[in-house]
Amino acid sequence: MATGHGVRETEAFVLRTYKLSEADKIAVLLTREAGVVRGVARGARRLKSRFGAGLEPCTLVSATFHEKEGRELVTLRQVEIVRSFFELNADPDNFTLLEYLCDLVIQFSPPGQRDERLFRVFRACLEAVARERENLALIARYFEIWMLRLGGFLADMRRCARCKKNLEFEATYARGDGTLHCGACGGGARLSPEAARGLQTLQRLKPGEWSQQMRSIDRAAQRELAQFARSALAHTLERAPRQFPTASVSTTSST
Ligand SMILES: [Zn+2]
Repeated sequence: MATGHGVRETEAFVLRTYKLSEADKIAVLLTREAGVVRGVARGARRLKSRFGAGLEPCTLVSATFHEKEGRELVTLRQVEIVRSFFELNADPDNFTLLEYLCDLVIQFSPPGQRDERLFRVFRACLEAVARERENLALIARYFEIWMLRLGGFLADMRRCARCKKNLEFEATYARGDGTLHCGACGGGARLSPEAARGLQTLQRLKPGEWSQQMRSIDRAAQRELAQFARSALAHTLERAPRQFPTASVSTTSST
């Protein structure tokens, strides 16, 4: 909800667009300054639109929009492409992943709520996808878990949720609500050491570094991470999230 008034300019990622009328679109943006914003892009569906390719999903733009007090929809005045990520959308695997990441932002981030860290994590994940095509599924895991953390749904994954013991050298158990426990507090499914370590290191590594480090773990551990993220998301959304392939191996057909 736009609560301010006037013209604003901010960096933004295009998350999704909808048809509004014959000529117009609605664009959902993740802005750096104002969180998730929905805006009318007049004339965006015309062949020669002033928005050009600037409203393609995942494009990083400098967006200028006009907001009116009490109106949820802003009016998009202008978008200028900062970085297109066009090459990513051309690949079907990437496209599916990127669409999924955009959906997660829309589902988890309340409109109009500025979140600089979410903007940075989202950008880092797109850049990681651009560099590491073979690690798509792990980057999805990274983003899922960070979304949950930024939303305040996941506690510090280096400590037992109950007794706060450091889990670094402990057997780690995961519950369906996304909490981790030590052996003494127990409950839930025991994680393999690789998966437990992945959850611990995810908090301090960038997505590219993390996915590089995690790609050597076996498929069972990757499935555990996927299961952890999925059940924590489902617990949070109180319904099952959209499906996404769980093993990165399944997206690398060239080797
Ligand atoms: Zn404990």
